[in-house]
Amino acid sequence: MRNRLIPRILLSACCLLPTLLSTPALAGGEVNIYSARKEDLIKPLLDDFSKQTGIAVNLVTGKEEALLQRLQSEGANTPADVLLTSDAGRLAAAQRAGVLQAVKSPALTAKVPVSYRDLAGYWYGLSVRARPVIYARDRVKPADLSTYEALADPKWKGKVCVRSSDSVYNQSLVAGMIAHHGEAKTEAWAKGLVANFARPPKGGDRDQIKAVAAGECDLTLANTYYLGGMVNSSDEAEKQTAAKVAVFWPDAKTTGVHVNVSGAGVTAHARHRDEAVKLLEFLASDSAQRWYAETNNEYPVNPAIPPSATLKAWGEFKADTLNVAKLGELNAAAVQVMDRAGWK
Ligand code: FE
Repeated sequence: MRNRLIPRILLSACCLLPTLLSTPALAGGEVNIYSARKEDLIKPLLDDFSKQTGIAVNLVTGKEEALLQRLQSEGANTPADVLLTSDAGRLAAAQRAGVLQAVKSPALTAKVPVSYRDLAGYWYGLSVRARPVIYARDRVKPADLSTYEALADPKWKGKVCVRSSDSVYNQSLVAGMIAHHGEAKTEAWAKGLVANFARPPKGGDRDQIKAVAAGECDLTLANTYYLGGMVNSSDEAEKQTAAKVAVFWPDAKTTGVHVNVSGAGVTAHARHRDEAVKLLEFLASDSAQRWYAETNNEYPVNPAIPPSATLKAWGEFKADTLNVAKLGELNAAAVQVMDRAGWK
């Protein structure tokens, strides 16, 4: 049973008022978070943090861009101590915008591998999300799959579903390809991929998986936690949909599977800096990492913590070791490449 010893105030982005944030500090202090993660994916962890440390947590949930803009416009007056996002590119953008500060923490550097954090400590990855190929079991032989690059082969004409180039997940995947192969090669690849589209890009990752299961296309690119959610769904139809597809880990012999992180940084003007650092350390701790693995169907950022049974069933894979900060640095180039390739 989760007993809430510490009162917490949950604020939605719509109704954040300065008065609400001047909550009287409790004995253990407080920490204010701007979070782009779904509330139910982070709240239980924050409750545990409060229980363990006596630090009250005030949570504001919103869209990534809106939260970043808000941090910028609030400047030194921001009530936020921590920014939580679900993409490394966004964290890097926040860093470039000057709204984060460097944090040096032996606990964090010990738990978070170098490829999943900013080397100066402006932000740290807290969970890993992999974006492999997801294919129709009855129509695709895994032996016919190999790399992301090979998805541009004309043999897949009319067989590929993807979501739009507005998706930061696809932008980051293309940024990763630019880092490995250069812009010209990546653009040629993107053109080939677009030529293989079964239909104009639409919907989210889940919709791509459903389209593959429904026979609209044979394969797609999607983050595994969406499939994990479907595998464990209470809805029998979703379970059956998930059973029709399988995961293929591309680039096993080359650069590895494209991975991204959800993560967090301490804001430049944090008034509760120590509490903020404690929160980041807690989120990287073994128990929190285990919770991510079990509950969110994401991969623990700490390789010492085993993934959930659902994730284990898909087998092990080689993850790209490119520092995820690169995905942010190359985001603009990726968007341009997708644009030139006609990726809607
Ligand atoms: Fe997502």
